[in-house]
Amino acid sequence: MTEAQNFDGIDQLERSDDWGVYKTLLESTKAIPWKINWQTMQFDYIGPQIEPLLGWRRESWLSANDWIERIHPDDREKTVNFCVSQSQEGVDHEADYRALKADGSYVWIRDVVHVIRDGEGKTTDLVGFMFDISARKQMEEEVIQLNRKLEGWSNQDGLTGIANRRLFDQTMAAEWARGKRSQAPLSLLLFDVDHFKGYNDHYGHVKGDDCLIRVAREISALSWRSSDLFARYGGEEFAIVLPETPAEAALQIAEQCRQAVAALKISHAKSPLGHITISVGICTLVPGGEVDHIGMIERADDKLYRAKGIGRNCVCS
Ligand code: GH3
Ligand code: MG
Ligand code: MG
Repeated sequence: MTEAQNFDGIDQLERSDDWGVYKTLLESTKAIPWKINWQTMQFDYIGPQIEPLLGWRRESWLSANDWIERIHPDDREKTVNFCVSQSQEGVDHEADYRALKADGSYVWIRDVVHVIRDGEGKTTDLVGFMFDISARKQMEEEVIQLNRKLEGWSNQDGLTGIANRRLFDQTMAAEWARGKRSQAPLSLLLFDVDHFKGYNDHYGHVKGDDCLIRVAREISALSWRSSDLFARYGGEEFAIVLPETPAEAALQIAEQCRQAVAALKISHAKSPLGHITISVGICTLVPGGEVDHIGMIERADDKLYRAKGIGRNCVCS
C-alpha cells in the first residue's frame, strides 16, 4: 500500500507545489501528525514517526477504533468520551493517556486536537499532534514521590523517627475539634525521662540520644490504634494523644508505658533505682467547655510535674 493510496485524504495539499516542504516539516518533528475524517472515522493520515514510537506499523492505523483499542483500559473510557464530546461541539482540546505499544508496554501521550468544521459549523475532520510525554510524566511522578517524602520528613522527629512536635500540635488541634463534635473523651499523656540530665552528664550525650531512641522504640512497639499519636514533644519529653479514650483506659495505657520503659532496665548510675524510668501526667477531657487544647496540654503538664514531685517513676492523673 502506498502512502498516496492510504492517506489520500490530504490530496488537495498533496497536489500543491508546497506539499514536499510541508511533508518534510510534518514528518521531521518529534510530534506525530494525524488526520481523521469525522464522517467515516477513518485515518486520512498519520505520520511515519508513529512506528518508531509505538511499534505498530503505520498501515495498521486505519480507523478511530485502532486508536481506541490502543489506549490503556484505565484511560480509555474517559479519553474517548472527552474527545468525542469536544469534537462534536467543535472545541479544540488536549488529552493525556497511555498508549499501548506493540511490545505490550505503554507510553504517555498528549494528543492535541484541532477540530475542522464546515460552513455550517458541522465537524468534518480532526487534525492533531501526538506528543510523547513519558519523560514529563515520569518527572511529575518523581516530584509527587519526593513531595510525599518531604511531607513525611516534615512531620518526623529527626532523632527517634516518631512524630514530631509539629504533627503533635496539628493532631491535638484536629482531635480537639473532632471531640467537640462527637463529644467523646480525649486523653493526653505527657511523659518525661527521670533524672535525664544526670544520665547525660554521666554517660555523655551520644548515649543519651541512644537512650531516647530506645525509649521511643519501646513505646512505639506497644499496641496502638490508628488514631493514637505518639510524638516527641521536645527534649526528653514525649506525648501520646488518645482520641475517644476515657480516663480509666488512659490510666491503664500510661501505666503500661511506665512499666515498658522500666522493663528495659537501661542502666542509670545516677538514678536512685539504678535504671531509666519515666514519669507520666494524664489529662482526659470532653472537648469544649472553658479550656482549649492548649489548656489541656498545660493540665497534663501539671500532672507530670506532680508525678515528679511525688517521687518519679509513676503516673499522675
Ligand atoms: P527530671 O527527673 O525532673 O525530669 O530531671 P531531668 O534531669 O530529666 O530534667 P532536666 O530538665 O533537668 O534535664 C533534661 C535533660 O535532658 C537536659 C538535656 O541535656 C537533656 N536532653 C534534652 N534533649 C536531649 C536530646 O535530644 N539528647 C540528649 N542526649 N539529651 C537531651
Ligand atoms: Mg526529665
Ligand atoms: Mg524534661
